[in-house]
Amino acid sequence: MRDLSIYIHIPFCVRKCLYCDFLSFAMPAWQEEAMAFDREWPGEGLSYTEIGEAGCGREKEIENVIRYGSLLKKEIIAQAEKYRDHQVISIFWGGGTPSLLGTGMVQELMGVIHRYYAVIPEAEVTMEANPGTVTAQKLRGYITAGINRLSIGLQSTFDQELKRIGRIHDYRTFLETYRLAREAGFHNINIDLMAALPGQSVASYAETLHRVTKLTPEHISAYSLILEEGTPLYERQEEYQFPDEEEEREMYLLTEQSLAACGYRRYEISNYARKGYECRHNKVYWQRGDYIGFGLGAASMVGNVRWSNPSQFGEYETYVISQEQKEKTALCQKTETEGGEALPVQILTRQEQMEEFMFLGLRMMCGVSREMFYKLYGQRIEKVYGTILDKLYAQKLLVCENDVIRLTPKGIDVSNYVMAQFLF
Ligand code: SF4
Repeated sequence: MRDLSIYIHIPFCVRKCLYCDFLSFAMPAWQEEAMAFDREWPGEGLSYTEIGEAGCGREKEIENVIRYGSLLKKEIIAQAEKYRDHQVISIFWGGGTPSLLGTGMVQELMGVIHRYYAVIPEAEVTMEANPGTVTAQKLRGYITAGINRLSIGLQSTFDQELKRIGRIHDYRTFLETYRLAREAGFHNINIDLMAALPGQSVASYAETLHRVTKLTPEHISAYSLILEEGTPLYERQEEYQFPDEEEEREMYLLTEQSLAACGYRRYEISNYARKGYECRHNKVYWQRGDYIGFGLGAASMVGNVRWSNPSQFGEYETYVISQEQKEKTALCQKTETEGGEALPVQILTRQEQMEEFMFLGLRMMCGVSREMFYKLYGQRIEKVYGTILDKLYAQKLLVCENDVIRLTPKGIDVSNYVMAQFLF
């Protein structure tokens, strides 16, 4: 059986962070509801109107979430037949803020995945959670549903820094969420951090690293803020003081040094883990494994074919319903049917596959295998990339040891330059 990973996109957030260009929508009335929403998911049985009336006056938002959950369920079921020969090794609830979901919906959807897909017993099942959106009861419910890894978006331990980027939480709220998660029984927790934030200093970033490592999470992701065009932070960047290039570089170096000193091994350019806790799901992306995405705008790649779900709610709904219809017809006729809304797919050329193999694989500290390259593409890596490799070896940015080619410490520092060399 081939390995498969599943991604589930939950496009709802309490409100939009000022730097965010992800596919997510603000649900301003949701936070209180999210805390209280531990009730059973009513599923198909209850109409949207009834839910609205039964809820606490936040009809529209509740209706949207319930409706979205129903679509996810249909989509998961409709796609299952195609993946009969796959075993699911990881599931990732991302967003958005998946931890806004009540346990009822999560349990229902996890149950559906287990019923329709061959999930291995030791599968890694991650949920992204934002501080302040979970209760002890919700967290216990997630564990019952099979979530065994929590990824908490902290970003900074300084309230002013969090405020400037529009996060909904403060540091105290994060600490409470972290404590609740440990008490609920999460033994595998990631904490997301960000460097190069407006108003952040090298000293405050160092203190954030110090405070976080003292909590001993199993995994830490540390990315630099990227100002994306069209976001409020981008538009208002003149109003803020950002760390300069030198400070940003100091923060970058500090991350590796201080995390290494606390027992975290860098295994990807921006990801660090204690032994045995590397994120299996993300490794599938970097190692070009098969994954399918469910939900609004979710991306998939199976056997070098890539596609994405529609990113508009209306179009996504039409697509899911057509897939469900197609599946039902196929089951009745016990045959494959044509029809249904087809999504445009991109079939990756051999050259594109080789490029991805290099620039995704080299993100990982374990590097890329020359033998694997030969096995996959029938050519020696030196035959395809000889000139580029020689240049990067000479610049001491890459090193080749037996079967493995990987970044040197100097190469990690200028990884964007290195990766760009492999794009034709
Ligand atoms: S919590 Fe994440 S997805 Fe939601 S708005 Fe903030 S950055 Fe975007």
